[in-house]
Amino acid sequence: MPVRDSLYAGWLVGSIRSGLVAIDETGALAALNDAAHRLLGCAGSGADAVIGQDCRAALASQPALLERLLQTLDGHEAPGRAELSLVGRGDRPGPTIGYTAAAVRDDEGVVRGAVLQFRDLTPYERTAEQDRLRDRLAALGEMAAGLAHEIRNPLAGMEILTGLLRRRLGERPEELALVNELSAEIRRAAQTVTESLEFVRPVALRCDLVDPIELLEESFAKARARVPFSGDVERDYAESLPALYADGERLECVLTNLIVNAMEAMEEAGSTRRWLRLGVGVERGEDLDAGAERDPELVFSVADAGPGISDDLRERVFYPFFTTKEAGTGVGLAQAQKIIAGHGGRLELTADAGGGALFRVRLPLSAGESAAHDLQANQRGAA
Ligand code: ADP
Repeated sequence: MPVRDSLYAGWLVGSIRSGLVAIDETGALAALNDAAHRLLGCAGSGADAVIGQDCRAALASQPALLERLLQTLDGHEAPGRAELSLVGRGDRPGPTIGYTAAAVRDDEGVVRGAVLQFRDLTPYERTAEQDRLRDRLAALGEMAAGLAHEIRNPLAGMEILTGLLRRRLGERPEELALVNELSAEIRRAAQTVTESLEFVRPVALRCDLVDPIELLEESFAKARARVPFSGDVERDYAESLPALYADGERLECVLTNLIVNAMEAMEEAGSTRRWLRLGVGVERGEDLDAGAERDPELVFSVADAGPGISDDLRERVFYPFFTTKEAGTGVGLAQAQKIIAGHGGRLELTADAGGGALFRVRLPLSAGESAAHDLQANQRGAA
């Protein structure tokens, strides 16, 4: 490919949004763009610092990728597209990348090096995971609607019959107590049916401008009223947060549920260390192109010192009615996921560095920022 000059070739490589790493025939790094440098986490302060170094040293922290590069140099052309897992930083697993590898040839066709172009597949995997969950929720919702229809009528009939029984039993307190217990069980079943129907109905949001810190504090107060909690509470709140355009009432339910779950997890496990970490800040979301950034997101986080959630349960805890608690309903996380998706956001679950669970609620800020701006403009106009 003819390129005007080497300066332009440098700009070109630097501007490519997917990662690009190339070596020459001696194995020295010939090109490494910023996206690659960021994803690979190579030593050195920037991509420029490692150019010219032997790739065996510069890419030592990524042995799988290094091996592919050297194999390509040796003439083993990679298949058209392939995937490999990068080594993560600290105890975090590295991302999976999709890559293509090719030998770099001069005009005579002689191999002069090897090049690997790649992109981070994590956002795609995350989107696929969310799609899978959404489909599953939709299927379960349809089933719930069918079941609800079949169950509600007999339940209503049973409720009427317990009323009749109560009247006939008149002065027999022992039997009356049994009938009341039966009646309570019927109402509980009816409540479960109603809750399961929630999954079929789309969430109707009533949005307004919400102060994120007030929202989190309010949720914390509600959670504390539900679960007695005596541990430490750390707060990690960013300064001067923008207002969020959202359904405050529903988000409060989501955050309250996350905090209640965190407190209950520590209570149930009888953890000796008890702390809760609440956070709110603004982060830039990841774009589907390697490492590129997109619109800012408001991120709420709730972390605890409980037993955490094992890998095999990480997806299942979001299923409706999945619960490990004696008195649990298993509705909270499924409902939370639906409300957050209704806001265009997502609910993430990871392991906290402290061993417990870490839930993050990510909400796009762009709509809220422009709404806040409009509100201020209206207020200025009115003044
Ligand atoms: P429920 O609280 O009624 O069980 P949820 O949908 O809120 O329903 O939670 C589902 C399950 O997820 C819980 O029963 C529990 O096993 C697990 N879970 C949720 N949050 C945590 C947490 N912070 N730590 C450990 N397990 C959790």
